[in-house]
Amino acid sequence: PEKITIKELGQKTNIEPVKLIKKLIDFGLMLNINADINFESAKRLLKEFGFEAEKEEEESKEKLVKKIKEESAGNLKPRPPVVTVMGHVDHGKTTLLDAIRETRVAAQEAGGITQHIGASQIEKDGKIIIFLDTPGHEAFTALRARGASVTDIVVLVVAADDGVMPQTIEAINHAKAAGVPIIVAVNKIDKPDANPEKVKQQLTEYGLIPEEWGGDTIFVNVSARNRIGIDQLLEMILLVADMQELKADYDSPAVGVIIEAKLDKGRGPVASVIVQKGTLKVGDIIVAGGTWGKVRAMFDSRGKIVKEATPSIPVEVIGFEEVPVAGDILKVVVDEKTAREMAEKEKELLKEKEDITSPKVSLEKLFDKI
Ligand code: GDP
Ligand code: MG
Repeated sequence: PEKITIKELGQKTNIEPVKLIKKLIDFGLMLNINADINFESAKRLLKEFGFEAEKEEEESKEKLVKKIKEESAGNLKPRPPVVTVMGHVDHGKTTLLDAIRETRVAAQEAGGITQHIGASQIEKDGKIIIFLDTPGHEAFTALRARGASVTDIVVLVVAADDGVMPQTIEAINHAKAAGVPIIVAVNKIDKPDANPEKVKQQLTEYGLIPEEWGGDTIFVNVSARNRIGIDQLLEMILLVADMQELKADYDSPAVGVIIEAKLDKGRGPVASVIVQKGTLKVGDIIVAGGTWGKVRAMFDSRGKIVKEATPSIPVEVIGFEEVPVAGDILKVVVDEKTAREMAEKEKELLKEKEDITSPKVSLEKLFDKI
């Protein structure tokens, strides 16, 4: 049977323990503040104070308090994690992303074609995970350099036959600088010369210590090519995401990040966006860097038309006047006049910068290098 101390009961009900003790004396019981009483006694005791101490009621009260707290914090609600895959060249980043998409997206939407919008939305155990399609630290850095940090979790791919290499270390440094937790995917474990233990050993030098050695870094052995360990990796991503308690306000005007943008012959400027805060809606007036527009239409990662985009969910946005730049922050503003003014101001600033800096390296070129 469940028990509770008089002290705890006092804390839970906001009744001074001394009053509870006095009442117990009335019942003929001499008990001190740390004494246990069972649920039935507690119920009887609380009745004297006008309480109906139903357990369920207690629980729902707690839930209510929690809910009120959340609402006062700006209606924060959970949002899915956004994951970037990083690692040394040829260690299997692209293959791993393909494996994840294949096992998850295809299974769900039999025969459905995934749209390329710069990020993939997959589902595992009813939970959504977003993967940025462009792996590599250049993309990550380019986005961050423009003030955008869209990544919640980095999956660090290390080939088990090759071990820690220069770009592995760079990736670790980038993730650390951004304060993003790392999950290590030790890849190519199908290879005869794979040595996952050596990878673990090597990574301890960089502060990534596996749990079994007293650290807190999660390691998952995978074979991206043979589709081994993919589910475990996804489970670990969800676990880390849970611990982060990722939340966002769904009700405010949307703020997001341009993750890709191009000029489409038929549709004009097309931008892939990940909303970070608020909800982006068709009809919203938007600004991103030196360009602005009105959201004419939006598509999700499966090419389906959508009316709104909530936090973390990647969408393709049609309606910009000009093509924005990856890494630009998208904002919803009140009217077209404001949008135009903001975009023009930004353009002028950019021009000034361009005049003093050397030829611009396009983000696309950087992406191609990976
Ligand atoms: P990236 O440069 O990190 O994107 O690496 P890729 O995904 O392009 O992979 C580089 C090479 O490693 C390709 O030839 C892949 O087929 C191969 N590869 C990737 N994952 C595995 C794996 O799990 N096992 C084996 N044996 N080869 C793999
Ligand atoms: Mg690649």
